[in-house]
Amino acid sequence: MTGQHTFPKRITVLSGGVGGARFLEGLLRLVARRGFEPWTGSTDGEVPDGRVQITVVANTGDDLRLHGLLVCPDLDTVMYTLGGGIDRDRGWGRSQETWNAKEELTHYGVGLPWFGLGDRDLATHLARTQLLAEGRSLSEATEVLCRRWNPGVRLLPMSDDRIETHVLITNPASGERENVHFQEYWIRYGAAVPAFAITPQWAEHAKPAPGVLEAIDNADVVLLPPSNPVVSIGTILSVPGIAETLKGCPAPVIGVSGIIGSDHVRGMARQLLEVVGVEVSAAGVAAHYGSRTSGGLLDGWLIDSSDAAQLPRIEALGIRAEAVPLWMTEPDVTADMVAESLRLASR
Ligand code: GDP
Ligand code: CA
Repeated sequence: MTGQHTFPKRITVLSGGVGGARFLEGLLRLVARRGFEPWTGSTDGEVPDGRVQITVVANTGDDLRLHGLLVCPDLDTVMYTLGGGIDRDRGWGRSQETWNAKEELTHYGVGLPWFGLGDRDLATHLARTQLLAEGRSLSEATEVLCRRWNPGVRLLPMSDDRIETHVLITNPASGERENVHFQEYWIRYGAAVPAFAITPQWAEHAKPAPGVLEAIDNADVVLLPPSNPVVSIGTILSVPGIAETLKGCPAPVIGVSGIIGSDHVRGMARQLLEVVGVEVSAAGVAAHYGSRTSGGLLDGWLIDSSDAAQLPRIEALGIRAEAVPLWMTEPDVTADMVAESLRLASR
């Protein structure tokens, strides 16, 4: 897929927040570099020549209800990053943010002291919650929010149904075991308290959002960015029908490792992989996803150049593998990495 004419027309990407968003920035950069424009028009029929349709299926297991509002961290990180509204230094939330509402709420003793919503960000959650109250689904509300940001991709929540990732921890104050929202484990406790289980709460009753399964089935290639294998990709896969569709879809499924050496690049993938008993290495995560040749998810797996010694182990699983630089330092560098994943898809 190196020549222009062989560039895939329909690309479907499963995404978490920051890792997924950076990957998508690189993908959009690559699309532009090859002389194509993103297509976000109708999904019926053909994608016009010269256009590439990118569908993003985003994790909503991190979503939380706060002050009566629905907050969707991963959907918003993708939307803000691709729409130019992200705070680059923090990697999440709005640029030019102010914190007046949070300060006022603190004076009332209301809200979660460890979770801050900026004023600009708050407007997004107000808008989303109003759209939902008017009877729209989360997918429809997301589409409305994206009209402002023009992210260049079709952004779909994995499900319109409520799913929350919960983590069973030892409460550091009481010493008791307790199930907490993933955000509490990650932000309040810094992923530094003992954790024993991770559950995508209510996932078994959820349905994939409209268009999700079709986007996987109709894709020319499906890409798994280096998003967290447990609480981003893992949660998306917990929605009934999504893993099964990936396993059976006609397009190649290519993943990129978020583990380099024996740690995550940023975030808390290492801690969570340990909780679910997966070896913290690029090969360990590849084995966890498994090969499509034996009922798993992957046709190909990109690992970092420094992990090249693991290539034979991954190939032995029946997964094509390549070792290339995997640090997403800036969109141009990430675009090279994404190009490698497409090359692997056509190998
Ligand atoms: P989150 O929802 O904000 O945690 O974001 P994701 O789940 O989409 O991505 C987080 C994962 O991306 C982490 O587990 C990291 O290991 C991985 N990651 C972040 N930056 C990089 C990078 O520059 N290169 C690679 N290979 N992985 C990265
Ligand atoms: Ca997330």
